[in-house]
Amino acid sequence: MRLLLIEDHQRFANFVKEGLEKEGFTVDTVATAATGEAAQSTVQYDAIILDLGLPDQDGLELLRSWREDGSKTPVLILTARDGVDERVKGLNSGGDDYLLKPFAMEELVARIRALLRRPGGVLGLVITTGNVSFDTTAREVRINEKTISIPRREMGVLEHLMRRNGRVVPKVVLEDKIYGFGKEVSSNSVEVHVSRLRKRLSVADANITVHTLRGVGYLLSEEDTLTSQEPSS
Ligand code: CA
Repeated sequence: MRLLLIEDHQRFANFVKEGLEKEGFTVDTVATAATGEAAQSTVQYDAIILDLGLPDQDGLELLRSWREDGSKTPVLILTARDGVDERVKGLNSGGDDYLLKPFAMEELVARIRALLRRPGGVLGLVITTGNVSFDTTAREVRINEKTISIPRREMGVLEHLMRRNGRVVPKVVLEDKIYGFGKEVSSNSVEVHVSRLRKRLSVADANITVHTLRGVGYLLSEEDTLTSQEPSS
């Protein structure tokens, strides 16, 4: 699960990031609305935690512009502004939940988990390729209707490849997706996850294949599709 935290108070942002990472989330932090906007338009986040008092723009305006653009990424609003009016305004602007500062880390974690589980949201999306389906809410992968267990990072790789089915995913994008921005990642780490994932898929009789395009990235395809594209002899 990759989250974006938009919060200009650096120490507070670090504290929240650490707390969430302890719970297994990958968290990117940015301190302005502009960088938040840039990150949001580059990465498919599972949820966004948004502070309202940002130096360059009101968080609510940013949120409203995302919703107008059709973004459905769940957003949890973080704010020191109290009052029913503020709450209603936040939710009317397209916020999915609202947490008042100060709060306990446990509460933030619980709220985010609830957001990600919420039925009917975009996160209820089930992506299907071949006989593999990926429930992005339940974080559950099924192959031939059978649930298989996949470690978190391999799951991140699979999710991203499935979301971009049939298109090349550069290795660096996968690194960002599973580790977050600016993390030191050993150069063969993605290869290791891809190779384990391949074995896991093959053992479970998945009819999708992860191709390596040397020096470029990875590509997921259904076996049937590939075969049908080859000239019959
Ligand atoms: Ca602030």
